[in-house]
Amino acid sequence: MSDCVFCAIVAGTVPAEVLQRSEHAIAIRDLNPQAPTHVLVIPTRHAAHLSEFLALAGEAEAGALLSLASRIGASAPGDGYRVVVNEGTDGGQTVAHLHLHVLAGRGLRWPPG
Ligand code: 5GP
Ligand code: ZN
Repeated sequence: MSDCVFCAIVAGTVPAEVLQRSEHAIAIRDLNPQAPTHVLVIPTRHAAHLSEFLALAGEAEAGALLSLASRIGASAPGDGYRVVVNEGTDGGQTVAHLHLHVLAGRGLRWPPG
C-alpha cells in the first residue's frame, strides 16, 4: 500500500534491521525501543487492523505471526517476554499496518499505561 511505512520496509525501500523473514512476515527491530529487546513482527500483507487481517488472511496466517513472535520471545535474553498488539486509537496504535510487538530484557510492569 502506498504511503505505508511498514509496506515500504517489507518492499525494502525504507531501511530496517531485519532479524527474520518467514513465508508471510518479517521481524525487525523497533526504531524507538521500549525494552532491551523490542522487535516488530510485521505481516507482508497490508491490513490496518487485526479484524481486517483475519478477514483477508485467515486464522492460519494469523497464527503464523504468533508463532514467529513466540520464537523471537523465546530466544530473547531474560526470563520471559511480552507480545502486544496496539489496536486503534485507544489501543495506542500509531502505524496503520498490523504488527505484533515482542518486548523482553527487563521486568515489564502490569497494567500498561
Ligand atoms: P504502534 O504504536 O502502532 O503499536 O507501533 C508502531 C511502532 O513502530 C512504534 O514502536 C515505532 O517506534 C515503530 N516504528 C515506526 N516507524 C518505524 C520505522 O520506520 N522503522 C522501525 N524499525 N520502526 C518504526
Ligand atoms: Zn502496509
